[in-house]
This record gives sequence, C-alpha cells and structure tokens, in this order.
Amino acid sequence: MTASVPATAAPAAEPVLRRPSLVGRTRAGLLEALAEIGVPEKERRMRVGQLWNWIYHYGVRDFDAMTTIGKGLRGQLAAHFTLDLPSVTAEQVSTDGTRKWLMRMPSTGPHDRGAEIECVYIPEVDRGTLCVSSQVGCTLTCTFCHTGTQRLVRNLTTEEIVAQVMVARDRLGDFPNRRPPEGAFVPNDGGRFVSNIVFMGMGEPLYNFDGVRDAIAVITDDQGLSIGRRRITVSTSGVVPQIGPLGEEMGTMLAISLHAVRDELRNELVPLNKKYPIKDLLEACRNYPGLSNAKRITFEYVMLKGVNDSDAEARELVRLLKGIPAKINLIPFNPWPGTKYECSDWDRIERFSEIVFRAGYASPVRTPRGRDILAACGQLKSETEKLSARARLMLDEAQADAPAVAAE
Ligand code: SAH
Ligand code: SF4
Repeated sequence: MTASVPATAAPAAEPVLRRPSLVGRTRAGLLEALAEIGVPEKERRMRVGQLWNWIYHYGVRDFDAMTTIGKGLRGQLAAHFTLDLPSVTAEQVSTDGTRKWLMRMPSTGPHDRGAEIECVYIPEVDRGTLCVSSQVGCTLTCTFCHTGTQRLVRNLTTEEIVAQVMVARDRLGDFPNRRPPEGAFVPNDGGRFVSNIVFMGMGEPLYNFDGVRDAIAVITDDQGLSIGRRRITVSTSGVVPQIGPLGEEMGTMLAISLHAVRDELRNELVPLNKKYPIKDLLEACRNYPGLSNAKRITFEYVMLKGVNDSDAEARELVRLLKGIPAKINLIPFNPWPGTKYECSDWDRIERFSEIVFRAGYASPVRTPRGRDILAACGQLKSETEKLSARARLMLDEAQADAPAVAAE
C-alpha cells in the first residue's frame, strides 16, 4: 500500500521577480550575496561563516532564528533574500520505508515554471541513502532507461542539487533539535538520517561536472551538511575523460554503469559506448585516483532477460574486472511502460550472482526498494514532459538562457 500525502499547492508561474533563496549556495555565492546588499568587505567572511552554520548545520528556515547575527543585518537579509527550499509537490512513502519527493525548483524566469525533479530516500538500519538527480532528463539514450526517453534536458544548478539534500534533511527532521516524522523509518545507529548520497537519479553527473563538483563541496563541508566524500557515490554511464578529474576534484566513490561485457551489446544498451568503448572505460577505472581495496569501484549491471544474463557473460564480467578493486551490483531491471526489455528470472539472477560470488564478490544483488511507488532506478522521469505544447515552448525559451548541456 502506498501512503500518499496530499500535494502542497505548487506555485503558479510567477511573473514578478522573487527574492532569491540563499539555500544551496556555495561560500563564494554567499559572499556575493553579502556584497550585493552592501555588507562591508572586512566583515563578509565572518558573516559567511555565520550564515553557513545556520543554513547548513542547523537548517533554519527563518533569518530571525540566526541569533548570532544582529537584528539590523537579519532584516536586511530578509528584505533581499529568502531561506526557501524548493516546494515539495508530492511525497510518497513505500511500505518498505522508502520515500519519494517530487519537488519544484524556483522559477528561473518569467516563463519558467521551475524544473520538477524527483528524489528518493532509502533508509536502512545503519545508513540512510539519498538518491539525487544531476540533470532534468538526460541527453544520453540508454535503451533500458526511462529517463533517457525524456525530451527536455538541462543541467541542474549547484543550488538545485544541494537543495535536494536540504529538503530531505528538512522533511526527515535530520537537523539538530529536530525530530523525524511520526512512524518514519530512519536509521537507528545514532548517525544522521541522511548519511549517504548517490548520484543515481536523473541525468549524467559527469555532463554537469562543475555543478556537481560545487554541490559536492557544499555537501561535504564539515561545518555544514558534513557528509564524507566516501559516503558519496557518483554514477556514470562512462564519460571516460571526466573520470580522472572526478577522482581528483571531488574524491568521491565511483560507480560505473557497465551492463554489458561486449562492445557490440554495450553499444546498443549504453550508446555512449560507441564513443568510449569498454577497454578505454576500464583503463580509466584502473587509473581512478585513490583506488584501493578500501575504496573500490562499484560496477552496476542491470539484469535483462535473454540479453546480458548468461553464465558466459557472468564469467566474462569477472574476467574483465580482474585487477580492479571492485564491487559488483546486479540490479533487477525495473520495467516501465513501453519498454522492450524484461527483468531476468529470479533463478537466472541467482545463477549469475553465484558465478560472480564464487569469484570473490560479496552480496551482489541490489534488492529493489520502493517499487510500489516507482522509486527504483531508472524510473525517475519528471512530469515536466507532460506539459502542454505551449508551456513547453515557453519553457524552451527560458532554457535558452540556461547553462549548456554537453550533448552527444
Ligand atoms: N546517468 C548515470 C546515473 C543515473 S542512472 C548512469 O547512467 O550511471 C543510475 C543507475 O540506474 C544506472 O546504473 C542505470 O544504468 C540504472 N538504470 C537505469 N534504468 C534502469 C532500469 N529501468 N532498471 C534498473 N536500473 C536502471
Ligand atoms: Fe542517462 Fe544514466 Fe539513464 Fe543512461 S542510464 S539514459 S546515462 S540517466
């Protein structure tokens, strides 16, 4: 059974200029905000530290709660900015405790209703993982992925990426002096409720490199959201030239959407493979900065019936990964309306995983979570696509000004 919380009213397109929110900004972004409202230069750095602490450590929603900042400046800040989070237009809770939020980002211009994105929270007893999006839609067209069929695409801004984490912590009461909602399933190990982040929602994170890098800087800052780099995983379909820089500049864990062991099949499933074939991809993995047995690469492999799930392919998978500190995640395929693929039968998945297990890789099948609320991998697809032709045209117009997305 799915418990659906009634949607809070989404704001209609607003022609008037809204005060921008400070939530999601980098330290440099906050510094700019203070300069804009005329805070003296010698004070700015100290003020950024205070704002940072209130916004990201305490998660306050009101400038008046910022008691270390004088009344005058608080008033000035409130006159020019807000501490708004994106509005949550729907929240769904699965029987297994998984939560999915549909959020609408603030409008970026007179004709933009604001990007609509989904974000999924997967609680376990000793961790809480938030699956975030890096783009609205995806320019890539992996044939088994619902997001890949979406037409509208743009990069999410740094603020929009950070805001997903802020919404999750706010809704879960994961800030000091706050409590989780009644009956919510959250980890009970004494740690934060949102303890891990995976970039496995919509979009290809390495095609939004700068946005993701700056968001990760905010998310990992130990005076704020304070989520360690080893608890963040960036998943890529294989943008080879950006894999080294990802390790150097972000230092997060890496996941590779492999899904096939032969180029011919991978070309079909993950068309980006035509540009960066398996051999080049694995070479980039071998050279991933910081790679060790304690910092392994996760290889994701979606189980498609009669397509990539034979014993021979399992053996080839193990052979290919030899010498790379790796974990293997077998993902049961999540079907969506209109797809030509089916999920492998359970005994086939078991057989495949046994071969992988005997080669020394532990617990490789990822249990599907939140299936009853369509929260699982590859099912996130924004409603924006269902806009009327006219609204879409207006949105396209607004997006002409948005940051360019690396197209294939
Ligand atoms: N673009 C990035 C990250 C987002 S996709 C990437 O491709 O890695 C996150 C994961 O979900 C990827 O491993 C992707 O291959 C997988 N996925 C996509 N559609 C799926 C589906 N229908 N069933 C199961 N996994 C899927
Ligand atoms: Fe894009 Fe990843 Fe989906 Fe491929 S699997 S279309 S890269 S979101």
